Amino acid sequence: MGVYDLSIEQLTERLVSWGEPAFRARQVHDGLWRRAAVYEEMTDVPAALRQRLAAELPLGVELLEEREADGGRTRKGLLRLGGRHVVETVVIGYRDRVTVCISSQVGCAMGCGFCATGQMGLLGNLTAGEIAAEVVWARRAAVRLPGFTPGRLTNVVFMGMGEPLSNYRHVSGAIVRLTDPRGIGLGARHLTVSTVGVVPGIRRLAVDHPQVGLAVSLHAADDALRDELVPANRLWPLAAVEGAVAAWRDATHRRPSIEWAMIQGVNDDDRQASLLARIALRLRAHVNLIPMNPIPGSPWRGSDPARIEGFSSTLRRAGVNATVRDTRGREIEAACGQLKWEFEGGPEWNRISATRSAT
Ligand code: SAH
Ligand code: SF4
Repeated sequence: MGVYDLSIEQLTERLVSWGEPAFRARQVHDGLWRRAAVYEEMTDVPAALRQRLAAELPLGVELLEEREADGGRTRKGLLRLGGRHVVETVVIGYRDRVTVCISSQVGCAMGCGFCATGQMGLLGNLTAGEIAAEVVWARRAAVRLPGFTPGRLTNVVFMGMGEPLSNYRHVSGAIVRLTDPRGIGLGARHLTVSTVGVVPGIRRLAVDHPQVGLAVSLHAADDALRDELVPANRLWPLAAVEGAVAAWRDATHRRPSIEWAMIQGVNDDDRQASLLARIALRLRAHVNLIPMNPIPGSPWRGSDPARIEGFSSTLRRAGVNATVRDTRGREIEAACGQLKWEFEGGPEWNRISATRSAT
């Protein structure tokens, strides 16, 4: 575990045990979280202490590569976390907000057929500190976005690799760290957890973090089709997911989102739209339609624009609030599940480290 896994109390305890005054811990904590600094940059901390910190409490996050896309409005970082996992983290600048899409696991056990992460299987869970460290990097990257964006990170979505509610303890720990006013102090309302429908996790989230937003990836509105697209549906079928989301909405008084990857000829017909409309109206949910990004080895393709329009107008006629994600949403947010595939060697890295940890 890296230093981002430590609370300020734990960091203070450690530094005091080294004979340092308690205020040093505050300085280091500020440097790590508020300034997103690496130890060498903490010039207010004595050099000898910086060396000891680097040796005994490593950051556990290393930027391997950074790229910009989309005319500079998007920045991608390839991060090595805990010296063992490589994930891609994406920062997207809009006029009114800057959003980072973060991973909670390396790979995913859920096996959704349209998702590149699902094809990898689960290679490992990230720790709370590793998840939070993605956001620390994103805050550095957000400052370098062009002028028309707010110039600072405002939103966090758990839509990268992995199923956040299958790594609940660490996701919850990351939320605690990210919202701690002594650190980054993000407002919990600016965080959104996206889930395939892990029912017990939805219930816990409502209790532990009622301010955090919820997006549920439905993709199908009847159990027969959803069993096929989202294998987790066999464990938590639609009625159970709907029940958990309704309870979440009642407890938090927040509007849930429904995510729907539009797959040509599979889940984009008007029958699915009508069934989806009923669920969305019952839940008073907002629907996000995302044309499926093609993934290697899958015969499925994203729906064409005319069908997306047809599907969304069926929803709107039924009184449902529906948005089609813009091109950038498509390229970046929808591609979250396959982010690091764009980097040569990314998947290899994880395979190598998985083998290592198995031996
Ligand atoms: N496991 C969580 C969060 C990560 S996936 C979940 O499933 O919600 C983030 C979003 O990307 C989900 O809505 C997921 O369904 C979607 N997604 C995955 N692969 C996709 C693809 N190939 N095209 C479009 N959306 C995809
Ligand atoms: Fe896992 Fe989400 Fe991909 Fe399904 S869509 S395999 S739950 S990351």
